[in-house]
Formats: sequence, C-alpha cells, structure tokens
Amino acid sequence: MFELYFDTERCLECESVSCLVNCQYLDLDEEQAKEEIKKIINCEYSFVLQECVTCYGCEEYCQYNNHPFYLIVDRQEKLNILPVPDPLRKRAINLTVPFRGEPEIVEINGPVVNMCVFSHLSPLISGKLFEGISIISNDSRKMFHFFCQLMYLHYGAHSVIHKRLPKTIETISKYKPTDVICFHDECYGAYTSYCEAFGIEVKFKVVHMFEYLYMRLLELKDLIKPLGLKAAYQRPCSSRLCPDKHRFVNKIFELIGVESVSRRFVDENSLCCGRTIQGQKAEGRRKLALKIQKENVNDMKKAGAQICVFSCPTCYETLKDRLLDENIQPVYMIDLCKASIGEEPVFWRL
Ligand code: SF4
Ligand code: SF4
Repeated sequence: MFELYFDTERCLECESVSCLVNCQYLDLDEEQAKEEIKKIINCEYSFVLQECVTCYGCEEYCQYNNHPFYLIVDRQEKLNILPVPDPLRKRAINLTVPFRGEPEIVEINGPVVNMCVFSHLSPLISGKLFEGISIISNDSRKMFHFFCQLMYLHYGAHSVIHKRLPKTIETISKYKPTDVICFHDECYGAYTSYCEAFGIEVKFKVVHMFEYLYMRLLELKDLIKPLGLKAAYQRPCSSRLCPDKHRFVNKIFELIGVESVSRRFVDENSLCCGRTIQGQKAEGRRKLALKIQKENVNDMKKAGAQICVFSCPTCYETLKDRLLDENIQPVYMIDLCKASIGEEPVFWRL
C-alpha cells in the first residue's frame, strides 16, 4: 500500500528533537527524546506509542518537515499498541464504511465547498460569502462518500485511511470542481499534508476555508463593520498538519475588528478539545480530558474572551456547554464573518 516518506537520517542527526521535547502531554528531555525517537524509527516499543494522546502537535513542532506523528501512528498499528479500546475502534471503523451506494454525480465545473460528514451545518454555506459556490456533502442514504477518513489517525489505523481515502478523492474529482474548499480543517490536512507524505495523488485544487473566507472578506471589505469583540480561538488538532493556514485566524480577526485575547494556550501551545482523549484506554484519560478542558476555558476567561471561535464542529460540540457556563459564546468562524458583513449568523445569536 502507501509508504510514509520519512527522513530517518535527518532524525538521527537532529539535536533538538523538538517533536517530542515540545510535546505538551509527555515530559521528555532531549536525551530521553533522542532515545525514544530511535526506538520508534526502529519499530521497537516506546512508551511514547502508549502514552501519545494523538494531538498531532509534533507534526508542527518538527522544523524539518518530517512526519513524527504519522510515524507514531504507523508504529502503533504495526506493534498493535492502539490508543483506543478494541470494541470502540471496531465500532468507529465500521460506522463510516463509505461507498455503500453510488452518489449522484453532477459535473460542477466551478468551486465547491466539501462539507465532509457535516451536512447538518450546510446552512452556514449561504449569503454573500458563498455566492456562486456549490456544496458537496454526505446525505443520510449515501453515507461517507466525501469523508476523508483522517480521524482514524486517532485510532492507530493508517490502513483504513489508505483503503478509503483514494476512493473519496476519486469520487470528488468526478464532480470536476475547479476548487475544493474544505469546510473541515481535517479534510484540508488530509488532501495536503497526509496525501503528500504518503504519495497519494490528489486530482483537484484544495483550498483552506479560512484562506477562502479571508480572500472573500477582502472583496466585501466595504460591507465590514468592526465587531469590537474579544475572542479566543480553539485550534483543532488537524491544524497542526497545515500550520501555515493557522495565520489566517488573526488575519480575519484583524479585518473584522475582533481582538485576539492574549492567553497561555494559543498557537503552538494550544490545547486539544479533549474529545479524543476521553475515550482512550491509557489510565486516567477521562480525568486528563476534563483537566485540560477546564484549564483551557479558565485561560480564555482569565484573558477576558467574550467569544470562543471554532473551526472544527467536534471541538465546538465538546466545549460549548463548558464555555456557556463561563459566559463565553461559542461561535463558528463562518458565523463570525457573516456577522461582520451585517448578515444574520446561523448558529449564533449576537
Ligand atoms: S521528527 Fe523532526 S524534530 Fe523529531 S527528531 Fe526527527 S527531525 Fe527532529
Ligand atoms: S501527537 Fe501530541 S501527544 Fe502524541 S507525541 Fe505528538 S505532540 Fe505528543
């Protein structure tokens, strides 16, 4: 099947081992990190394989464009050191079996937003921001034709992704889109970082939603009324796969008059929403998930955030009640952009 491109020589010469030293969930100094990365490269047991919370962070921490997290997942699968309990893993894998029926293919020959599995959020793709844009989305009968399957990185299951992702790419390309704008950050990470790392061919142009929103807002600049809000941003795990797109968060905020509050858990130090961690089999994971959720929201509160802006629907669902309890409004970035040009947000009441 597909093989990971990984620069072993670079790793063996690497002095910083920043991939593991910067990990927020494991406590390793440089010497320990060097030993563990060697074991991982040699496909030997390392406690990192057992304790990794699958936050994707090390993909960003490596300055050499290597793929330490993809390597960790590869070794977890080969050595059968799996992060989630077997029954949960099997159920999750069976839940999203794609291609049970044929989707109706209509050639689009224009830009599309790929909603992935989030068809219930399609109402967001409306108004001036998305004029002339089509949507492709799973529906309740023809499930998972557009699902990139990258979430199986959390399950130690490259093999599942490799089996399904090329077919998803094939299906999308049949629509003949000029640009595929990814609603879900994880799809963008799949079609760019992941496919490149494994040599999987992508037959369409991929656009990150935040880059699209920023460019569209520039076109609609005359309509923007600064919102004057203080915001925290909840970074999704997959944005570690495409950190260059993370800069669009602040660019959008600046354009629409939103202040990014100064806090501890931002950018490289962002904390994961905790959804995946709470279902993992290592001891104390539920407690850890609750702890980081609490720390994260307290940090936003202390910094004076009025809203918490989201890209990922799973992060949104996981944190929204805790945020509301602290009087912080959860808001999708698209809704925030809608509000800035005087349109009614879909899921947020100003
Ligand atoms: S993955 Fe990157 S940061 Fe980690 S040891 Fe290798 S080269 Fe260094
Ligand atoms: S994925 Fe996250 S928890 Fe796992 S080793 Fe990398 S940085 Fe640490």
